[in-house]
Amino acid sequence: MKTATHCPNGTLYIVPTPIGNLEDITLRAIRILNEVDLIAAEDTRHTHKLLNHLNIQTPMVSYYREKEVQRSAEIIDILKTGQNVALVCDAGTPAISDPGSVVVKSAHQNDIKVIPLPGPSALITALSAAGLGNAEFLFLGFLPSKKNQRRKSLNALIHSEYPVVLYESPHRISALLEDAFDILGERQALWARELTKKFEELQRADLQTLLEKSRSGKNKGEFVLVIWPGKKEKVTAESIEGLIEWYRDNAELSLKDVSKRIATDLGISRSQVYQKALQLWHNPDKFE
Ligand code: SAM
Repeated sequence: MKTATHCPNGTLYIVPTPIGNLEDITLRAIRILNEVDLIAAEDTRHTHKLLNHLNIQTPMVSYYREKEVQRSAEIIDILKTGQNVALVCDAGTPAISDPGSVVVKSAHQNDIKVIPLPGPSALITALSAAGLGNAEFLFLGFLPSKKNQRRKSLNALIHSEYPVVLYESPHRISALLEDAFDILGERQALWARELTKKFEELQRADLQTLLEKSRSGKNKGEFVLVIWPGKKEKVTAESIEGLIEWYRDNAELSLKDVSKRIATDLGISRSQVYQKALQLWHNPDKFE
């Protein structure tokens, strides 16, 4: 064991690694990777290159998505012998759209100390360059790759008041932008491609412009997409009536459920909608 510890169990360190530029590793990350007894890496060949660059010889074990449960149990056993383990993924912060959460959860359940290190993450790097006014945002990672499910996720964002941050691979960026533009319309967005790398590219534009850009085919590399929230429409008596009409004609929902849904979507009181719906539900003429 390389480090002395008073605790009978070892410590699980969560160690972020660069998302492109090797200079982005922190001094603390280098020290921890040197000091621990074992590094659990998403892809040992990938991490080997980083360790070579840093001249670190700590032994490694692989920890990847398909084997998370099995490897997690093995790593917990190692931690229980008092050895310290560092968890890394191929790039960025482990357990953020990457393997890691299983062993972290298990460490908490087994009273093993978990120490997360701050460091590179594509999400925060992109968000810091968005120029958004407030602190709130919604991070959804990768949306489903199947079109129907992806569109369902985007539909759920129509009324969200938060900017949303998404991860996407280069071969699906056009499909994502196509559905996003279709469902969310003319919103502002930030396209952050190849962050920290040679061909880093940030572009802030509306979704349609970015969709056209993505179709140009010169979009190699990795993407973070930040999409601004839609403009809040003023809630008027007419807009509530219009929504009640739409739900009455298109959805098989009870008057009570429709009132609940509209109230949640518009951020207004349920009884206000319910009273209006009660007047109009069985009296379609009132809509004309
Ligand atoms: N755990 C990582 C993190 O903390 O950022 C994310 C890993 S996830 C499997 C990989 C996705 O992150 C990519 O598909 C891309 O959406 C985003 N990503 C990673 N590196 C990036 C970079 N250099 N530039 C832009 N996006 C990046």
